[in-house]
Amino acid sequence: MPQKLRVTKLAINQDLIHMKRQTLVLSIAIFLITFSSVAQNGSCAFDGYLEKLEAEDPDGFRAAQRAHHSNIDYYREQNPGPYYVSNSSITATALGGGNGCNKATYLLPVVVHVLYQGSNSVTSSQVDNQLATMNSAFKNGVWNSATNQFESIGVQFCLAQTQPDGTAFSGITTHQTSKAINTVYDLQSLMAVVSYDPARYINIYVVDDIQATPGISGNVGGYASYPYPNFSATYDGIVVDKNWVGDYVSVGSLVDPQSGGKVLVHEVGHYLGLYHPWQGGCNGGYTAADGCDQKGDNCCDTPPMAVANTTCQVPPNTCSGDTLPDPVENHMAYGTDACRDRFTSDQVSIMWSVLDYQRNGLWQVTNINAMNLTCCVNAIALSGDNIGCTGEQVSLETYDYGSGTSYTWQIGTGPSQTQASPIYQPTINTVGEYDVLLTIDFGGGSTVSKTFTDYLEVVDCTPLLSTQANWYFGKYAGLRFTTSGVIRDVEPSRLTSNGQIHTNEGSISMSDSSGALLFYAAADTGKNSILNPTFHLFNAT
Ligand SMILES: [Zn+2]
Repeated sequence: MPQKLRVTKLAINQDLIHMKRQTLVLSIAIFLITFSSVAQNGSCAFDGYLEKLEAEDPDGFRAAQRAHHSNIDYYREQNPGPYYVSNSSITATALGGGNGCNKATYLLPVVVHVLYQGSNSVTSSQVDNQLATMNSAFKNGVWNSATNQFESIGVQFCLAQTQPDGTAFSGITTHQTSKAINTVYDLQSLMAVVSYDPARYINIYVVDDIQATPGISGNVGGYASYPYPNFSATYDGIVVDKNWVGDYVSVGSLVDPQSGGKVLVHEVGHYLGLYHPWQGGCNGGYTAADGCDQKGDNCCDTPPMAVANTTCQVPPNTCSGDTLPDPVENHMAYGTDACRDRFTSDQVSIMWSVLDYQRNGLWQVTNINAMNLTCCVNAIALSGDNIGCTGEQVSLETYDYGSGTSYTWQIGTGPSQTQASPIYQPTINTVGEYDVLLTIDFGGGSTVSKTFTDYLEVVDCTPLLSTQANWYFGKYAGLRFTTSGVIRDVEPSRLTSNGQIHTNEGSISMSDSSGALLFYAAADTGKNSILNPTFHLFNAT
């Protein structure tokens, strides 16, 4: 089957049936930068910067915001919470970093670019410690009040081992440059020094200093690009002051004594779509009835707070609409590194939404398999054919390294197939939409398992003839494709029984070989339909 016809089918199906989904899928990774600082001695300009962006381009900003929120809404509709992966089933042995393996759905490759002026003081063990802190924070990231334990966010960060040109490296690059003194928002000058494809790598820039005012040494810990869709393609990455890379207890005087490695946990939160919990202040929404999922930080489980609060002692309640204390222990708040220890389930739904839509290039199987990761891999993802023909082989693939010893596949309610290869190529003979259940056994009793709902669509690919198609352009002009050639037509050759295609509007239609109408699309939204549910446009030859 020609690949491009599959694409046609996808596009048209989305257009006709899944308008909302198409909007989401097309909301690909285009980013703008937002700014924040979580250094204890710094103030955060995130909220002010959002206001600045809105003032510069009010319509574009609001449209980007709506698209972002629409993605979140759609994700939550399709994926009911709670949003975490149970930690209780994780038994994998630690292979590196000392924090064990995350049971991860999303494996994210990271490149750390160290920019320095004089001599480089940032060590690889300091970077390793920082990633271990991020992995620990995401592994033990959501408090489950039902079980009184932390659950996993299902995200694992891993240093990439392959550069964009295919050569091996450590995951860290170093650059002696005057740009190591950075001014907030100026991510472009860092990207001009070095940037690996942001669709494939999380670019983390470690700099000597981040200055809120040029020439005045730093009171800023870090900042990150924010994944609003369709707003600006200029910026992508995370910037951190070297004094906040790693945990002081582990790396000592290389970092600020207050550093617990949480600045980058916070910045990754922004990078994955999170606001501060005081977004919208006390108007952030308290309950579902007043739209807590739509207002403020779009999370119902982070009580509104009036202002940023840097204390962790006896959390105040700065908003009168509830009796809950301010969420000062949240990673997206401004408590000290020692204080901040959790995200919430609703925050995770936003991060997973961003990972599924705006940042879905990072964890694709083809990307991860090219990265030659050496960190502890205990993750699962799926790629390959998601549309196939009856009676023809489809190819499914998952991560092909880590310590996977066997892979068990089940298509729909069919039999399970266990094999050593991460590539599975079944043949399905019946038209339908199928769940794919994949279980990876890592040995030692550790497994990960996930159902990819309706992942595989199998259709009847019996070809239709192009002579069964008609194009009608409206205003009495049209084309009919016949076995004797294309002829002018002044009417759509087929009208639906209720006459939905009118002679003054453009339309296309397709019939089967006996002339029965299978599909039509007319100019007005809503006047298009697939009349036969088993019909797919890419059947046409
Ligand atoms: Zn922030």
